[in-house]
Amino acid sequence: MADVEGGKADLIVRNGRILDPAAGLDFIGDVAVRGSRVVQTGQKLDLSAKTEFDATGCLVTAGLIDCHIHGYQYSTPLGINIDEACLSRGVTTVVDAGSSGASTFLGLKKFIADRSHTRLLAFLHIASHGLAAAGCSGGASGGESESLHVVDIDDCVRCIEENRDVLVGVKVRLSKEVTNKGQHEAEVFRRALEASSRAQVPLMTHHSSSSIPVQRSNSEDLGCPGSLRPGDIYTHTYHGFPSSIIDPSSQAVWSDVWEARRRGVLFDVGHGQGSFSWPVAELAAKEGFWPDIISTDLHTGNFKGPAYDLPTVMTKFLAIGMPLEDVVRATTCTPAKAIGRAHDIGSLAIGHVADITALKLEDCDVALEDCHGQQRRVKRNLYPVSVWRAGKQFHTIKSFPWHSALKETPNQ
Ligand SMILES: [Zn+2]
Repeated sequence: MADVEGGKADLIVRNGRILDPAAGLDFIGDVAVRGSRVVQTGQKLDLSAKTEFDATGCLVTAGLIDCHIHGYQYSTPLGINIDEACLSRGVTTVVDAGSSGASTFLGLKKFIADRSHTRLLAFLHIASHGLAAAGCSGGASGGESESLHVVDIDDCVRCIEENRDVLVGVKVRLSKEVTNKGQHEAEVFRRALEASSRAQVPLMTHHSSSSIPVQRSNSEDLGCPGSLRPGDIYTHTYHGFPSSIIDPSSQAVWSDVWEARRRGVLFDVGHGQGSFSWPVAELAAKEGFWPDIISTDLHTGNFKGPAYDLPTVMTKFLAIGMPLEDVVRATTCTPAKAIGRAHDIGSLAIGHVADITALKLEDCDVALEDCHGQQRRVKRNLYPVSVWRAGKQFHTIKSFPWHSALKETPNQ
């Protein structure tokens, strides 16, 4: 007999494949919810509920977490509508990666986090205006760290301490394009390291076309990921630009990258508009260098391709051989732990918030592109069937805008 008082629940999701790496669950069965919390999981639960959902043939996971998106809509050029682009694709929690800094954060909280169905958490940019001008790609102007006057450790730490309900980390972009041709890069990196250390939160680094090396000649030197600490997050792991994780001469993952992983630095996908290369991901996969966290870096420049949504980016990693359980781990419990929320989200264990995603894994035969126009044939894809945020069901859209958009002529 059920543990649930009176044998009643508000919702039961039945007959799905419950896959929850955090709780060690992998079986065909049911999840019961009362109010906004998971109250029981098991096979053929002897419970009645106000609502039942038949998840036969579905994969049922904790609500997906997209650990790198840009959701400050209308206030930054990159901002997307998170309910339309994330919740509708099975993502219940998003983490905004530095769209706001200390002087612009309250708008993100009051106009987006407080008004969205999707749970929004955020990394605070070390530059006080965040990505207000977006100078990130395609030669766009307005690099956020062109002046060191806006990179203030005290302001960053104070803002995090006052807003720990939303802020979970610090973000910095290490790139010559946004740091006065690289002149400020090392100092901006030092300030971001210090701010995150003082606030006791992880630092997320974007590291591309940088003057700071991936592979250091001396372990005392500043390096990225070499200077990151356990729990810090290296995003855009599989980009194909200078500062790649792959040593171009040996075509192997740099030893400093492996060493950082051993120390507990987390490697995140952050697919984006320019940061996912099939060849880089395939070379890393050959060595078993899978991402700890799979995220989209979803923004206005890539949600219609090549990133599309989180299930599509998960599909890409399945296509290069990452095991399904690891793909689910990288979109549920690992990001939850990375942002200090594992007690609440990222698992279907009893007492966790009833954020639940039902997905289907189906056979297909289409070409899917990376950020450089290279295509690979994909034989299986994941798409969302339903999603519940704190026990409430929301409408989903099949993640297949790319199904018709792409040519059927891959180069491999
Ligand atoms: Zn980003």
